[in-house]
Formats: sequence, structure tokens, C-alpha cells
Amino acid sequence: MIHDVLIIGSSFAGLAAAMPLSRARRKVLLVDAAQPRNRFATASHGFLGQDGVAPAEIMARGRQELAAYPTFRMREGLVEKVEGEIDDFRITLADGRQERGRRLILATGISDELPSIPGLRPRWGQTVVHCPYCHGYELAGRPLGVLASGPGSDMKALLVADWGPATLFTQAAFQPEPEMATRLKARGVTVEESPIVELLGPEPALEAARLADGRVIALGGLFVAPRTHMASPLALHLGCRLSDGMTGPHIEVDNWKKTSVPGVYAAGDAAAPMHSAPLAVAAGMLAGVGAHQSLL
Ligand SMILES: Cc1cc2nc3c(=O)[nH]c(=O)nc-3n(C[C@H](O)[C@H](O)[C@H](O)COP(=O)(O)OP(=O)(O)OC[C@H]3O[C@@H](n4cnc5c(N)ncnc54)[C@H](O)[C@@H]3O)c2cc1C
Repeated sequence: MIHDVLIIGSSFAGLAAAMPLSRARRKVLLVDAAQPRNRFATASHGFLGQDGVAPAEIMARGRQELAAYPTFRMREGLVEKVEGEIDDFRITLADGRQERGRRLILATGISDELPSIPGLRPRWGQTVVHCPYCHGYELAGRPLGVLASGPGSDMKALLVADWGPATLFTQAAFQPEPEMATRLKARGVTVEESPIVELLGPEPALEAARLADGRVIALGGLFVAPRTHMASPLALHLGCRLSDGMTGPHIEVDNWKKTSVPGVYAAGDAAAPMHSAPLAVAAGMLAGVGAHQSLL
């Protein structure tokens, strides 16, 4: 059987893409390896109508809603290979199963390369986070840190000061310009030049940071800016054009989420420079509609 659309990745973007296609009574197959980017967080915030709900619960609700549509199917597994062209794409899963589809939507997400500071990884998604809008409210009032990774970290420190007393750890990565140093001072942000060498406290709680010069300073939350990578090499295998974003590469798409390869659409973190669950849902919806209309 040939599906109308194969969707790879069944998280915010993939599920949202499946909805308009299933409602249009098109044959949709969603394949997912169950490794969403926010699997380290216990709650997802800032998504209207879903604020504070566990990511796994949002996914389960989405799948349940889609299961009501008779042309929707879902398979678990990792897609290892993709071949073919518009009107006849073929995917191969890790267990050797193959599926065919006329259009392809990549909703495969990105992965985060975390700084290699001892104690940081076990706190990721809890007290070590990347987005103040997603997790700042929950950490508010505690002493907060911003781990510099380059230009832009000083702006983040200005922002984070809205949630608590903030320190910018320059980590010998960069130095704020004099004008920015004045703005940071006016916002009450401390600039700390001795690098953090270890995070302390009963994980996943964060109580303090040990600095290279031996001092231990109180810290209740740390904002980092991980370098991001494509979670899957499939876009590269297909020859999709990529662009450089603020944190890493993303797939280039037009307004209807069409990539540079005919018949291939992409949505969510993998195809955007800015990342959040509601943005991924909006993009997934556009990709689903774009792929549907290209079938007409
Ligand atoms: C720690 C953390 C906390 C976050 N908290 C929030 C928050 O509170 N609010 C918010 O709005 N945003 C939050 N985000 C951002 C949010 O998680 C992402 O923007 C969102 O998950 C993007 O959705 P997506 O569908 O594009 O990709 P993902 O959610 O990453 O899903 C991609 C899916 O594709 C699958 N996949 C990839 N390759 C293959 C393959 N080859 N074969 C089969 N399946 C494949 C993966 O297994 C995965 O299930 C957080 C991010 C992190 C890292």
C-alpha cells in the first residue's frame, strides 16, 4: 500500500501535521522513535490550554485524538533510511520494515549538546534549563545563573533578571561590551569571571556552583544555551538545504513548510531557528495542509 503522507516524528510537530491530513481522510502513517527533545522535563509550560501538563500526557492525548480517524496509522520505530522521490518515497525502519508514501513530512526534532560541566547533565530539564519562558516561572525567586556560551548570553542575563537575582557566568567564553556591562549593572546582574567547574546539591535540585577559584556560590537555577544538531540525518540523506540558526542548523522551508526537495516537507524544531512546543504545533499544521494541497 502507498500512503498519501509519511510523517517521521510523532511529537508536537508530527502529530499536528497528521491532524489536518487525517481530517481530510488521507492515508497517513506516522513513525516515531519516542525520543522527544523535552523528555527530560516533567512538565511543559507556556502552551495555551496545556500549561503545566506532562509532555508524555500531551502526546498521549494527541495520539488518542488521531486514532479516532480511520485513515490514520501509527508505528513505533526508528526510520533509518529514506529513498525515492515525489509520489513514491520509501522508508526503512531499523527492524527492516518498509513503508511507501507520496509525500514525506520530517518532524524529527533536534538534539542538545550540553556543556560538559560535572553535575549539569543530571539536572537538565529541571534546574538546568534553556528557556526562561518555559521554566523561569518555576525557578523564580531563587539565585539564577546564565552560563555564557557567546554573544547573546548577556541579553539572556538581562532577561533572566526578571525572574530572580541573576549572575552572568562568562566562562572565559566572552566579555560583555562596555555599554552592555552598564545595562547589566543597572538591572542588578552580577558578572562572574571565574568559570563554574561543578554544580552542587541533591540532584535534580541545584543549591550552589563551585567556581574555578575555589569559591562556592548559591545557585537555584542555571540557564544554558546548548548547541543544537539535527536529531536525525534523514534531511541530509534526502539532500534538503539547511540554514544556520542561532543555536545550530535547521532545514530550510517556505511558508507551507516545503523543503528544497520536491515532495518533502519539514516542521518543528528541525525546521526553525526558534523552538517551542506551540511553535512546533503551528508549523506542523502548516506542513500537513501544505502536503495535503500538493496532493490535489
Ligand atoms: C529540557 C527541555 C524542556 C522544554 N520545555 C518546554 C516547555 O516547557 N514549553 C515549550 O513550549 N517548549 C519546551 N521545550 C522545547 C520543546 O521541547 C520543543 O520545541 C518541541 O519538543 C519540538 O517539537 P518537535 O515535534 O519539533 O520535536 P521533538 O519533540 O523533539 O520530537 C521529534 C520526534 O521525532 C522522532 N524522530 C527523530 N528521528 C526519527 C527517525 N529517524 N525515525 C523515527 N522517529 C524519529 C523522535 O524520536 C521524537 O519523538 C523544551 C525543550 C527542552 C530540551
